[in-house]
Amino acid sequence: MTPWLPAVAAAALAAGWLLGRAGPRPRGADPVAQAVRDLLASARRLGFPEALPADRAALPGALAAFGRWVTEAWAEAQEERRRFAAVLSGMAEGVLLLDADGRVLLANDVAAALWPGLVPDLPGRHELELFQDADLHRAVRRALEAGEPQEVEVARPGSAPGISRHWRVRVRPLAAEGPEGPRALVVVEDVTDRRDLDRVRRDFVANVSHELKSPLTTIRGYAETVRDEELDPEARRRFLERIVQETVRMGALVEDLLHLAELEAPRLVPVEPVDLAELARDAVAEHRPRAEAAGLELTVAVAPGTDGAHVLGRAAELRLALDNLLRNAITYTPAGGRVAVEVGAGGRPAAARPGDPRSWLYVRVVDTGVGIPAEALPRIFERFYRVDPARDRRKGGTGLGLAIVKHAVVGHGGHVEVQSTLGAGSTFTVWLPEAPRGSAPGRAVRPG
Ligand code: ADP
Repeated sequence: MTPWLPAVAAAALAAGWLLGRAGPRPRGADPVAQAVRDLLASARRLGFPEALPADRAALPGALAAFGRWVTEAWAEAQEERRRFAAVLSGMAEGVLLLDADGRVLLANDVAAALWPGLVPDLPGRHELELFQDADLHRAVRRALEAGEPQEVEVARPGSAPGISRHWRVRVRPLAAEGPEGPRALVVVEDVTDRRDLDRVRRDFVANVSHELKSPLTTIRGYAETVRDEELDPEARRRFLERIVQETVRMGALVEDLLHLAELEAPRLVPVEPVDLAELARDAVAEHRPRAEAAGLELTVAVAPGTDGAHVLGRAAELRLALDNLLRNAITYTPAGGRVAVEVGAGGRPAAARPGDPRSWLYVRVVDTGVGIPAEALPRIFERFYRVDPARDRRKGGTGLGLAIVKHAVVGHGGHVEVQSTLGAGSTFTVWLPEAPRGSAPGRAVRPG
């Protein structure tokens, strides 16, 4: 900040020594004393607090005080510089200082990371070269020329085609302090995640509206026909049946939406030890009539040593996840097939962190159904994603089942895995961290 200070301190010392050697001389004819007086006078303009001594004999003392003042000011400046560097590097935003021409004078690490190809020579680059954005260029010029703060959003191509990054860029003018002219501080914030979230929300609302609109249109059509036309009793019954089916579909959709909303809300439900084997047996018992009606064999098996193993969780959410997996397995397995639920311990999810010391429990739902094509696997947990929209709607699915499963499991610190072979069947595995053995079943434990 003030690199001249140590040099000044050294000069002050040298001048003090000269003054001491020279002995008394008439005032005015002494160039060293005059130089010291000039030095002290400029120092006073910079804030040196002591008065200029009239007496030549007091000059060495004043010079020594000046030396101490410089040393202190230097230490303070160094400290300030360290603090400034720490603040700059600790900021989550990228910060660039631009000169009056729009070239980078200074950049923090976050800013440097925004242009990985240009490091280490960000200083000297022009703002236009970095951002390549006409709106931002206008904003920088306005900030520098009119002294008005500006804000713009800049879209930049991301690492993959079709994906762009969004930066919110704020430009703050800094008034001119020297001959270099005004400067501008540019703060860059990556708001891509926020924009993505906005897009997901918009898509979700559009999807929900669409999903509710189509059954409503059907209901209205049939209801108007029943109201306005002379129908034979059989046709009338068929139409009313369609109306009932559509309302059931709407009901299922609304129920799944409520489940998702509950899973997303802050969790007020306390966690408690949940016996996974018991949970699986209960679920299977409840789904058995549907499975049998569909001509399927439904079994549950608990690996030896797993009985009595617990996870800490919210039983209702885990049961909801298992219900959705079972419902899918039954729905997408043709008559004559098998659905098996397996509960066990040992092994670990592929996505577990290396070195994670926890032991894991799993619940697996295996079916011999239609299977899922490999290219669809990465998307099946998305809301409203269906492999075959017409077929899957007809089967009464809402398109939200696996989104609910994923939400519930991830909310328990777990993982869901899927393996599937088209035409042969699918296996969904839910992994959950095992509760420390000996945590008493039945006693509720509050989280955190
Ligand atoms: P849906 O309510 O339509 O079943 P999900 O979110 O539960 O929606 O599942 C998404 C899609 O994944 C389904 O539409 C279906 O195409 C496919 N799917 C899910 N589970 C299975 C399974 N066990 N076998 C075959 N396909 C499945």
